[in-house]
Amino acid sequence: MSLYTSTRKKLENITATKAILQGISEEGGLFVPASIPQIDFNLEETIHWEYKELAYRVIKLFFEDIEEKDLKYCIENAYDEKFDTQEITPLVSTKSAHFLELFHGPTIAFKDMALSILPYFMLTSKKYNKETKDIVILTATSGDTGKAALEGFANVEGTKIIVFFPEEGVSEVQKRQMVTQEGANTLVVGVKGNFDDCQTGVKEVFADKLFEKEVYEKNYKFSSANSINIGRLVPQVVYYFAAYAKLAGQGKLKVGEPMNVVVPTGNFGNILAAYYAKQMGLPIKKLICASNTNKVLFDFFEEGTYDRNRDFQLTISPSMDILISSNLERLLYHISNGDTEKVAQMMDSLKMDGKYTINETMKKNIEDFYGGYADDDMTKAYIKQIYEQEGYLMDTHTAVAYAVYDKYIKETKDETPSVIISTASPYKFTSSVMTAIDSKYQNTDDFTLLDEMHDLIKGEMPRAMDQIGTKEIKHKGVCEVNEIKNIVRSFLV
Ligand SMILES: *Cc1c(COP(=O)(O)O)cnc(C)c1O
Repeated sequence: MSLYTSTRKKLENITATKAILQGISEEGGLFVPASIPQIDFNLEETIHWEYKELAYRVIKLFFEDIEEKDLKYCIENAYDEKFDTQEITPLVSTKSAHFLELFHGPTIAFKDMALSILPYFMLTSKKYNKETKDIVILTATSGDTGKAALEGFANVEGTKIIVFFPEEGVSEVQKRQMVTQEGANTLVVGVKGNFDDCQTGVKEVFADKLFEKEVYEKNYKFSSANSINIGRLVPQVVYYFAAYAKLAGQGKLKVGEPMNVVVPTGNFGNILAAYYAKQMGLPIKKLICASNTNKVLFDFFEEGTYDRNRDFQLTISPSMDILISSNLERLLYHISNGDTEKVAQMMDSLKMDGKYTINETMKKNIEDFYGGYADDDMTKAYIKQIYEQEGYLMDTHTAVAYAVYDKYIKETKDETPSVIISTASPYKFTSSVMTAIDSKYQNTDDFTLLDEMHDLIKGEMPRAMDQIGTKEIKHKGVCEVNEIKNIVRSFLV
């Protein structure tokens, strides 16, 4: 039975469903598999599997306590017509690279890969652990997570979801996506403050024991949809297998030969999933970690010191604007061979001094990672170049990955097929993408630019963007940071 433990303390007998339900361990550590499972199938077979089959075969190795019929139910409901292609994660090859497009879900960003299945895992976990309270998902968002969580949890029985976003801190498209959200169990509120204010406000609600008790008596239990939940991480392992199967199926490599992956990284969830895939037996050679100018991770891979003491930079790849990559804690656990004391110490010093350093053994264990970063100007230059030379339009996050990929290739001359993880549709960051191509778009609003972009790249306009400019606004609430708790209270009657 695959069981879970905490990164900061040895725990026993934590089942997957308990870890999903609980989200985070009591002493503040993250749940990790006590040992990473090995694949029990032949990679040759996967070439012919549909995404759902692959998802079942991979996820079941991690979530052994979920029975076959229940796991299949979760998967069936997650990867259905919400995605605009049956392939779920198409692999698109251009002259210079392969792009694994993870943006074909309801909110056109890769968070859909995990957040369309998390609600079903939560319900299953509730049932298995005899939890009778309704689950209330509380989330502060800088854009992508909020909408993906709303889509995932909308109208899911036994759950409610409340999302707080910085009133002035998200793109026009992102805001419109959230405030037009349907579903009686959803609430979206703009906060007068920046993302950190939202996040702090929400964390205070989570930490308020008295409030937790009050809410519990009303039959509710708080949970979080952010990427520290193991229920979000595991579904992300699947698409690395999908990418490999596609490369093999298209004759780009022979089964057994390696591939590289290039991942635009923020909270370190996506690339950690690639690391898990590799540990399970998928032939990945290099895990290429791409950052924007908030390059804490680049420095970490260069020097072995994680140091968040620096200015926070706002970039055109906002979903990667982050100085504390929470999921890195899981990597520390694995590369220290499960040394929970060491991880707890490092996390303490991160909290106290804003930094920590890993030892030589741990450094050796991250040799498969390669770090790189790109600033906004480079990001824009690559968007323009790849559009003009290869006819492929990347979003800003994907372009950061491309920039780092290009540097890696030039530096190493590595000829291993590389897959660039494409985390958002260009439609989601219309303004930055269009102005990268031509500065004449500078003063045009996002909604007009959607149509301009559509004219440029043709094909079908993603459903998520269709008529977004004229959709009915359902959520008009705006609040001060100190009103967050009361808003939550009045929604939970
Ligand atoms: C969340 C996000 C990322 C970063 O992913 P992590 O798992 O946090 O590293 C990159 N690109 C986009 C578009 C995102 O929404």
